Amino acid sequence: MPALSTIIWVLAGVAIGYVLWKSGIGLLRSFNTPMPSPPPVGELRKVNVRYRCSVCGLEIKLTLAPDEDPPPPRHCLEDMDIVAPLYD
Ligand SMILES: [Zn+2]
Repeated sequence: MPALSTIIWVLAGVAIGYVLWKSGIGLLRSFNTPMPSPPPVGELRKVNVRYRCSVCGLEIKLTLAPDEDPPPPRHCLEDMDIVAPLYD
């Protein structure tokens, strides 16, 4: 027959574990919140902008954006530079 204090400590441990488990689940949920879904394709603007990474030289072409003047994407932790289109 265990002492009453032992039973209380075990119950307290279970309660603390339960709270930690619940808060852990909540933390995981907040990480897993779904991204806002993109607007329907009809609402996207067709753009033709090229960006170059000033750090590593990577160049990308942007063809669709939610508005006509999208913020530059980031690469190598820096904002990418707009490359003036040479053709078209
Ligand atoms: Zn880069």
